[in-house]
Amino acid sequence: MEKEFDIIIVGARAAGASLAILLGRMGKRVAVIDKAKFPSDTLSTHHMSHLHYLRELGVLQEVEKTGLRKITRMRTYIGESFVEGPRASYTLIPRRKHLDQVLLEKALTYETIVMKEETFVSDLLWEAGQVTGVCTVNKQGESEQITADIVVGADGRNSAIARWVKAEEYHTERPLRPVFYGYYKGVQPLIEPATEIFLNEGRVGFLFPMEEGMDCLGLEIHPEEFKTFTEDPQQVFEQTYRNFYQMETRLKQAELEGKMIFTPGVPNFFRQSFGSGWVLLGDAAHSKDPSTGLGINDAFMQSFLLADAIQRHDQGEKWQELMNQFNEKTDEQLMPGYQLTLDYVHSLRKWTTREKAIFQSIAANPMVWNKIVPLLPDYLKQISPELYGAAEAEAKEFGFDGE
Ligand SMILES: Cc1cc2nc3c(=O)[nH]c(=O)nc-3n(C[C@H](O)[C@H](O)[C@H](O)COP(=O)(O)OP(=O)(O)OC[C@H]3O[C@@H](n4cnc5c(N)ncnc54)[C@H](O)[C@@H]3O)c2cc1C
Repeated sequence: MEKEFDIIIVGARAAGASLAILLGRMGKRVAVIDKAKFPSDTLSTHHMSHLHYLRELGVLQEVEKTGLRKITRMRTYIGESFVEGPRASYTLIPRRKHLDQVLLEKALTYETIVMKEETFVSDLLWEAGQVTGVCTVNKQGESEQITADIVVGADGRNSAIARWVKAEEYHTERPLRPVFYGYYKGVQPLIEPATEIFLNEGRVGFLFPMEEGMDCLGLEIHPEEFKTFTEDPQQVFEQTYRNFYQMETRLKQAELEGKMIFTPGVPNFFRQSFGSGWVLLGDAAHSKDPSTGLGINDAFMQSFLLADAIQRHDQGEKWQELMNQFNEKTDEQLMPGYQLTLDYVHSLRKWTTREKAIFQSIAANPMVWNKIVPLLPDYLKQISPELYGAAEAEAKEFGFDGE
């Protein structure tokens, strides 16, 4: 019996909406279902330093329209010193309420895409061991059964689809760090805005300049601090932040917009990403600590690979083989970022007095930098080939030709 849709996508954000755009271009009949009412925020900051996917999805201009600042520099503070440099391309920090809405609106420009918002997917439909659709309940309490050839779970890290299909988890690691963040008006800006990272007492502070006069301020803290922070989140957050270099002064006129947002931590895992009649995408398939800000682009990358597999299936290639390749390729592309993220978070700690004091003194000494800079590439390669690889890739934009 012919199904109502080619594909049902559960979840309409980075993973789900980007896939819907790509499938819309192919003329696929798609139902996108989300329990949220859009535009809608979600638990996520939104540092995006690789914008080529937004360009390829045809939404970059629309995302930029609200006056987002184009951030071209990154600054890392160690105590009262910092290192700062240009990035190969600019960074945008669009609020999820805006980003997800732009993606969704783009998807809905294609006639074959149908959106069901405020609709909860409550179960899967099965036939002879194969997923054939979903059961839904909408805001009015009306139930419906919808069928499709493939159900895509783009329903986030607590994916119900993953639970129902019993997707195996691997490379799992417990949540490592609680995260607190909030939107602040009136933080005194740098003359030239930069993404600012504060490595302090084993915590990571991050200041993401969004629009003129509006920043996203965040903190990854030690797990044992979580309880104290939750007792009075704004007060403890701001008190901690004021200890960062110059932040006492820069926060004088600052005002929190809305509430502090927080999580005790994000689980780290990969999940088996396909089976009979189902596929997992985005955080549903792979989740990691947000300190490296990779999740949104990772979700886009998976959407492009899945759309490519679907297109090749239309051209006659075998689904099972395509899906094996999809699983392999996604894992292969996600693994370096996963390892770098876990390694980064595990190695965060308070600096010893000696480390901090020596760094402060060499930071201010050009003669030391003159000696150190030529040694840095090989030293980095030796202690972290992965970080060196990432640096080398970016260095090409600054004139390094591989020699
Ligand atoms: C604190 C924090 C900070 C972060 N910071 C960054 C950052 O700076 N940069 C970055 O790139 N990434 C960041 N991330 C990661 C990023 O948020 C995720 O990787 C990204 O949101 C994944 O998108 P997704 O579409 O897979 O899932 P989600 O964004 O989680 O969307 C899932 C959707 O599925 C819907 N849904 C779930 N269950 C059902 C159901 N049963 N029925 C109907 N709908 C359902 C939900 O309503 C939701 O809209 C951060 C994450 C956290 C937690």
